[in-house]
Amino acid sequence: MTTCDVIILGAGPYGLTAAHHLRQIQGLELRLFGEPMSFWEHNMPRGMFLRSAWTATQLADPQRALTLENYQMECGNHFHTPVPLDRFIQYGKWYQRKANPYLDRREVTRIESDPKGFRTTLSDGEQITSKRAVIAAGIGSFAWLPPEFAGFPSSLVSHTSKHSDFSMFRGKQVLAIGGGQSALESAALLHENGAAVEVIVRSRIINWLQGWASTTLHYRLGKMTKQLLYAPTDVGPAGISQLMARPDLLRRLPRGLQNRLRKRSIRPAGSRWLVPRLKDVPIHLGRSVVSVAAIGERMKIRLDDGSERTADHIFLGTGYRIDVSRYKFLAPELASSIRTFNGYPILTAGLETSVPGLHILGAPGAWSFGPLMQFVSGTLYASKALTRRISENGHVR
Ligand SMILES: Cc1cc2nc3c(=O)[nH]c(=O)nc-3n(C[C@H](O)[C@H](O)[C@H](O)COP(=O)(O)OP(=O)(O)OC[C@H]3O[C@@H](n4cnc5c(N)ncnc54)[C@H](O)[C@@H]3O)c2cc1C
Repeated sequence: MTTCDVIILGAGPYGLTAAHHLRQIQGLELRLFGEPMSFWEHNMPRGMFLRSAWTATQLADPQRALTLENYQMECGNHFHTPVPLDRFIQYGKWYQRKANPYLDRREVTRIESDPKGFRTTLSDGEQITSKRAVIAAGIGSFAWLPPEFAGFPSSLVSHTSKHSDFSMFRGKQVLAIGGGQSALESAALLHENGAAVEVIVRSRIINWLQGWASTTLHYRLGKMTKQLLYAPTDVGPAGISQLMARPDLLRRLPRGLQNRLRKRSIRPAGSRWLVPRLKDVPIHLGRSVVSVAAIGERMKIRLDDGSERTADHIFLGTGYRIDVSRYKFLAPELASSIRTFNGYPILTAGLETSVPGLHILGAPGAWSFGPLMQFVSGTLYASKALTRRISENGHVR
């Protein structure tokens, strides 16, 4: 059996940047597994734009060389904000080739405890033991289907993350459920792909980002004001953004306050550039779904105002609910040893779980380190914290 110091599972923004940072530790034997940028390529809609600002779309790099600017210069692939999804994927793959050319694309089927630390099994049966294991597997396992929509065939009801190509819905009637970016942008893309789409939103309002106040604070009052109120990580509203950018400070606040700030920072919202694209799409606000039924090849829903809708397909832009025990590759005994709160692992410095040597990066880290962990801009904090933890403690557990 092969051995190494650290294995990293996942080649999205968090896994790629963590591996690049850990490579700076001399003598550390590291293995990185996963398909680069695969969630972005297969589980986000083609034609999507990133919601995050330019500064918040940079993948962390200890030398600050693998930036969006340098990618554009080297590849002649020019774009600006909002960053198109396909360009971001190309940037991520460029980063991977430059920083992590030794990436191993095999799937990890199992991580379990081992007397030496952890044992990782790959899709072809090969096993590797390591002193530490870093999970950067993203949110793909946590797509949330409200119970009333469960149990229907995926040809009739599906989560937005199950699609990247919307052209198959041309000429179809589709209902999109949700009032956040995923539901709204999916609705715009469905409409542009020739589907007849309606959106059902439980809330009475849609929070459109980049409104008058935000635009004034960002652009009209000068660079100094912007820099004072908004951190480059761009998570959270004016002022709160600076706190969200500092997870070590945020962690010291009382839990109730942390929760309130977190909720305020990541409430469901849509980018303002979607407004003109949705002008011909009916959006029903303040409406809940009370019943759902399949009628032959179509779906029928009843809303709380008594009205009914039928459609060829229901699209659920209903978000994600973290529950690390749903990572299929985690051996049940190992998963049950991880201390959690509401499905989130309780992490300590270096994003380490209660199982020494087992780290979890990305969105599952949000309960411990705040909503920054749910975004690309959190890769800098996470990679540095992980590297610090591993170098301070030697390579061993
Ligand atoms: C529709 C949508 C739009 C978004 N837009 C933005 C945005 O504009 N800006 C932003 O900052 N964030 C955005 N996000 C959030 C975004 O998902 C995260 O910022 C980012 O993907 C987190 O990176 P990650 O590395 O944690 O996860 P991922 O990018 O999901 O990467 C996970 C990696 O793990 C690998 N993996 C999983 N299981 C295994 C296994 N068993 N074996 C081997 N490899 C495995 C996958 O192949 C993948 O490479 C968006 C999310 C959604 C759903």
